[in-house]
Amino acid sequence: MTAASTAAGTTGPVGDHPVVVVGGGVVGLCTAYYLAVAGVPVEVVERRGLGSGVSRGNAGWVCLSHSTPVPAPGVVRYALRSLGRPDSPLYLRPLPDPAFVRWLWRFWRSSTPAAFRRGYAAIAELNQDTFDLFDGLREAGVDTTLTRPGMVHAFLSATEARHHLAVQREMADGRYPMPDDVTTGPDARLLDDALSSRVRAAYLVEGEGVVDPEAFARALGEALATLGVKVHENAEATGFRSSGGRVTALRTAQGEIPCSAVVVAAGMRSPGLLRDLGSPLPLQAGKGYSFSVDLDPAPRHTLYFGERRAVASPIGGTTRIGGTMELSGNNNRLDWRRIVAVALASRHYLGRWFDDPDDLVSLIRDPWVGGRPFLPDGLPVIDRVPGHENAFAATGHGMLGVTLGPVTGRRLAEYIRTGRRPEALAPFRFDRLLS
Ligand SMILES: Cc1cc2nc3c(=O)[nH]c(=O)nc-3n(C[C@H](O)[C@H](O)[C@H](O)COP(=O)(O)OP(=O)(O)OC[C@H]3O[C@@H](n4cnc5c(N)ncnc54)[C@H](O)[C@@H]3O)c2cc1C
Repeated sequence: MTAASTAAGTTGPVGDHPVVVVGGGVVGLCTAYYLAVAGVPVEVVERRGLGSGVSRGNAGWVCLSHSTPVPAPGVVRYALRSLGRPDSPLYLRPLPDPAFVRWLWRFWRSSTPAAFRRGYAAIAELNQDTFDLFDGLREAGVDTTLTRPGMVHAFLSATEARHHLAVQREMADGRYPMPDDVTTGPDARLLDDALSSRVRAAYLVEGEGVVDPEAFARALGEALATLGVKVHENAEATGFRSSGGRVTALRTAQGEIPCSAVVVAAGMRSPGLLRDLGSPLPLQAGKGYSFSVDLDPAPRHTLYFGERRAVASPIGGTTRIGGTMELSGNNNRLDWRRIVAVALASRHYLGRWFDDPDDLVSLIRDPWVGGRPFLPDGLPVIDRVPGHENAFAATGHGMLGVTLGPVTGRRLAEYIRTGRRPEALAPFRFDRLLS
């Protein structure tokens, strides 16, 4: 009997060799962690450094009230209005690429009210254990950096705020507490000292959390080291050796790593690897931007700027401002106009923290762009790869990878160990995207 198969409940495809996780972002690290704590030998292969992908400069929200998939009723019309307007919160730059056009077509088909509700319910169900898992990580000694200051949703118009709250209340459907009403008029800005007098309506969703995403990834890496997990950094996975429907080794630039199972959690680069397994995924980057700035007063809560769809988070003693969803191909090119657009959007809600956009270059730190991995129905894939009994994929978490990282890792580790798909993963099957 192998070390892996003596782990509690192990009847899945693990054997003598380690399970190799490709990708050291929050999703891959959490999956490796839950496999390792269950006694399964694991190795992680990361082409750069742990947490260096889109898991780095994001807004760090760990939240229940924003579990909505991006394809939603009206969103396509909204995106089409952004054509040629690179300052729009959702910016679509059409590409003469058949894969991109197909992706948009499927995105449009997923934007019906029924699909939106189904998607929301699936994510909300998966999300139910999120805060318990973060607590469990902390109790196990992982410094998640999670705090739960609550999230203030701020609006320039009371009508917009009421509409947003009504939608969020309906979606929550009693799963977690939502406020009954919005605070309007001059009192609205009192919900967070950083808000400006232009904010005319706001509401607080208590208990919503935030982490420092870089520090969280670092802590997961340290936990893996303590658990004896071998981590290969600066090692790019290039493909797989397979035999009879089983992956027997991962190919890397440095050589092959024999494996009993493989998990592809390579974010935006997952499709290239999955193509090698005969199952390419229709993934597009939803590019977002962020930067840090010292504000006085600084926000105490996470802030959602309703009309402009931008956000601010208290992270690492400073304020991280982020936003925009740019569908312009799978690249990491930083468009400074988008940074300026996010900064200008934030000024409606935070006051004039700068006068001239040219001053931003000296006021802000760490301007950053990252591609959220997006599947056309807005849901992740957390499943076995079709045609391979010991290959798994975990990607496509879009705007929610930090929130859903632990629950993804926990459920996928269970699937790999037992060979049985947990019920909560049924909506995230791979084959829904193959038609
Ligand atoms: C502006 C912005 C704000 C966001 N805010 C939030 C938020 O507040 N809350 C939230 O939950 N989510 C948020 N997100 C989304 C979140 O960042 C992502 O969903 C999440 O980080 C995805 O994690 P991942 O592990 O799948 O991908 P990644 O972090 O990209 O990890 C994939 C890793 O795989 C590695 N890799 C790729 N190819 C290979 C290869 N061939 N071999 C080896 N390694 C490889 C990469 O280097 C990378 O480190 C935000 C995103 C953006 C852009």
